[in-house]
Order: sequence, then C-alpha cells, then structure tokens
Amino acid sequence: GSLRFASSFKAAGLTIERNTECKPKPEPSTLLFGKQFSDHMLTINWSEKGGWESPQIKPFQNLSLHPASSALHYSIELFEGMKAYRGVDNHIRLFRPMLNMERMHRSADRSSLPTVYKRWIPSIDFKDTLSRSIGYEHPSLGVSRPGKAMIFVIIGPVGPYFSTGSFNPVSLLADPAFVRAWKGGVGAYKMGGNYGPTIAVQNEAVKRGCQQVLWLYGQDEEITEVGTMNLFIYWTNEKGEKELVTPPLDGIILPGVTRQSLLDLGRSWGEFKVTERTMVMKELLGALDAGRVLEVFGAGTACVVCPVGSLLYKGKTYQIPTMQNGPDLAKRFYKELTDIQYGCTPSEWAPLV
Ligand code: PMP
Repeated sequence: GSLRFASSFKAAGLTIERNTECKPKPEPSTLLFGKQFSDHMLTINWSEKGGWESPQIKPFQNLSLHPASSALHYSIELFEGMKAYRGVDNHIRLFRPMLNMERMHRSADRSSLPTVYKRWIPSIDFKDTLSRSIGYEHPSLGVSRPGKAMIFVIIGPVGPYFSTGSFNPVSLLADPAFVRAWKGGVGAYKMGGNYGPTIAVQNEAVKRGCQQVLWLYGQDEEITEVGTMNLFIYWTNEKGEKELVTPPLDGIILPGVTRQSLLDLGRSWGEFKVTERTMVMKELLGALDAGRVLEVFGAGTACVVCPVGSLLYKGKTYQIPTMQNGPDLAKRFYKELTDIQYGCTPSEWAPLV
C-alpha cells in the first residue's frame, strides 16, 4: 500500500537505449581508480511538479546543464560510492548497499534535494508537498530549493587496491590549521562541497612529504578522519586493556560503511574492547611515546583498510609501529571483509546482484 507513490520510479518503467559503439574492455592490469567508465549510464529526472520520472539507461554521455543550475553555483549536489565484486564463484555481489542508500537519503535531505524513500511514505509526502510554495520556474539564481534534479549512476572497473597483497603504509600530515568539518556543519554528509576544498590541503601534505591528511578539529585537536577514510587506533589503553578506538559519529565524521563493518566485526569477536570515542592528539602522542599504540589504520571502500606508518605534526615526524605489529588486526579485518565481498564467506552483508 505505502509503495503506491513509487509508481513513477520503478524498474518496470525503465527504458534502455543501447550503446552501438561499445569500447573494448580495458585490460585489468592497466586500470586506474575512477578513470574508466562503462558504456552506459542510468539517469532519473525529478521535478517539483512531476516527481520522479521513469529511469533510463542510455549510452554514457555528457550532461547538458542550464548555466544557472544550482549544482554549479551553490553546490546543491551529493554523491555516493560503492563497489560491486565479482566473486570466486563468478557471481557479482554488493557490500551492505542499504547503508549507502540510507546515507544518500540523509545527504539528499540535508541538501534540499528530493529523496527517494520519502515518496514511499504517504503522510510525509503530503506534508512535504504542501510545505513547498516555490514556483516551478527553475533554474533560477536564487539560493533556494531546486525545482529540478537528476540522479545519475555511472560505473567503472577498478583494480585491487593492494595488488601485491601486501599493505603499503601511508604517512599523514596532522596540521590543526586545516579543518575539514565542524560541529553543526555538514561533514557527516557526502556533499561535494566537503571534498573540493580538501584538494589544496592534500597537495600541501604532499609538498611536506606526506601522503594523506589527518584531519584535526577544535582546540583540543580531536582526531577525526584520514583523507577520505575513517580512522582506527588499536592500542593498549591506560588500564592495560587491548582496545580498538574510532572517533564517534558526532556530526563531523562521515559515517563510513567500512567503519561500521569493522565495529560490527570487532564487537562480534569479543576479543578486545571496541570503543567509539573522541581521542585528541595529545593522547595519541602520549600513547605512542609510551609504546602503547599497536596499529593505526584508515578504513574505507576504496582500500578496505590502509595502515598508517607515520605522522608529521608541528614539524616533527612520529613513527607508528603499525607494520612492525603485523599489522595483525588490519590484515585480519582486510581478509574477513574481502572474503565476504568475494563470496568466500557467505554473508548477508554481500547480496548477489
Ligand atoms: N570518510 C570520508 C570523508 C569519506 O569520503 C569516505 C568514503 N566514502 C569514508 C570516510 C569511508 O566511507 P566508506 O567506508 O563508506 O567508503
């Protein structure tokens, strides 16, 4: 019953226009991240007046945008990223795709872009429609909710992140002068505006001989994220317990699917404490100094886990013994997750496509 509002956005309404000039498939060993795309794309248009239109699959092509489109001027846009895996049994699986969909929904809501699920819930839909009083004469240069929107899906092949099977540790620049997100802001959403401004900082890190940025926040220099990964610290805490710590979802951190999965796995093992809490630079440096830090690693869809080898902070380089410690935990997480993704371990986290 509640699905009747989805009538305009059903797979049954899908139209397919085949590409007659398909490119040769790239050689897997030559794949670069995000550089090659498939021959087709999916688009679904939305308008204030008509809601979601039927989805279309068509040849991969440029978009045509009105120059006053709010996406170009005010960054009213969002993105999501996930991978599909060809398993050992040749079946293709996604990894916890509903977590991405829920995150996309939250980003859309915060961006004043139309959501998908909302239209499936009649009471909210009515309320929502009634509260809109803007005209349909968009695009316009006014800073207001867009009257038209489009969702599009593009896909492309990527190679394995650690091709040799061995991890490469990264070096991080931790400079409190650079802030990625702040309390009350939008760091927890996957809006393009969170990412564009980080490129210059990433370049600065490279200039200073580092590979990625460790984002700090506030007067206490809270540790938040690394590059576009969530951060994990595995240490012996002050009480002498083995503990896996990651910063909490307090609005300045992107709620990563990989982050959630490491927390879920770690808790299910019950072998060490698993804690979501704020950790400040002073604490990390103190623990490093005391030899209590075992492993530091980033977690994200691109690499699954990525070990951290050193930290440049206020002109001083601090070595982190992640690699010297195996890294046992990072490797275990990597194997557990990739075994699920490639179908070696059956799991409801990896539905077949
Ligand atoms: N933090 C940021 C800022 C990110 O952009 C990403 C990538 N989506 C992540 C963390 C990791 O999230 P996920 O595990 O869902 O890829």
